[in-house]
Amino acid sequence: MTDPQIAIPSRAPSATSADDTVMPFEVAALDLRGRVVRLGPLVDEILARHAYPQPVAKLLGEALVLTVMLGSALKIDGRFILQTQTDGPVRMLVVDFTTPGKVRACARFDKDRVAAAIEAGTVDGGALLGKGHLAMTIDQGADTSRYQGLVALDGGTLEDAAHEYFLRSEQIPTRVRLAVAEELRAGQGGASHRWRAGGIMLQFLPKAPERARVRDLDPGDAPEGVVPHTLPEDDAWVEGQTLVATVEDVELIDPALSSERLVYRLFHEPGVRVFRGSPLRAECSCSRGSVEAMLKSFSQDDRDHMVEDGKISVTCEFCSANYVFAPGEVDAKPS
Ligand SMILES: [Zn+2]
Repeated sequence: MTDPQIAIPSRAPSATSADDTVMPFEVAALDLRGRVVRLGPLVDEILARHAYPQPVAKLLGEALVLTVMLGSALKIDGRFILQTQTDGPVRMLVVDFTTPGKVRACARFDKDRVAAAIEAGTVDGGALLGKGHLAMTIDQGADTSRYQGLVALDGGTLEDAAHEYFLRSEQIPTRVRLAVAEELRAGQGGASHRWRAGGIMLQFLPKAPERARVRDLDPGDAPEGVVPHTLPEDDAWVEGQTLVATVEDVELIDPALSSERLVYRLFHEPGVRVFRGSPLRAECSCSRGSVEAMLKSFSQDDRDHMVEDGKISVTCEFCSANYVFAPGEVDAKPS
């Protein structure tokens, strides 16, 4: 039997960041598990293509990291969809993760309100989102039921919403850190920008039932606004949270710091074991066939309204692919 406190390296840790990967890890001595997400070309491709205002792009980048973190943990084949719907300048964020590693994302926002927020300097995630909810949906295909988890967004960030979700819905103490930034590179044609993003998730999953029971305590019917009485937190979880709180944004996106070195930096004392990471790529799942099926599901009246210059043109909101149909092509089949 191997000592869980000793990490057994199966290969030398990579010195530099392996971009567009998610790497699970375990700190057995503290009953902690987690994942590190590093996004390079993937996040740059998606955000550069949309060319949203900078704070909107940054917020969508955070949603991308969070989606990859959660979606890549699924044990099933299917799609994980993270979607916000709020009353702030950024009305909607949608990120799709299709197993094993396909990602796409888009945002809807109010141009004038975003411009006003930039002018006023109120561009943090919570201010841009405003109030509403964050929905997380697992879709395993046409003939299966969808599972949806909902959490309120109340002026807080996506990190706050993730903590709330895991505490309320999963009863798993969780810390999430998300970071997105533009990297400036000097080049021959002048400086160029590239988006980078990264994140770390840490969860406390004790095996001992008496420690598990602490986290299962129901806060009861405390009136709103009253902080429910909670037992003192487990020492291992306190230590885990303290360590993850020391992670700086730059460490999550630094191309010169690998995921392995980051978790080693944090957890070398209790010992950490890393697992094989999985690769991710930006790829849309739209197709002429799926757009055609969608158009056929509309009423004739709706389709008639879509005809312009004798054709129906549909542009994918995720990848900007354009599909053009002759009106007769998408008539619903006679039943
Ligand atoms: Zn598309």
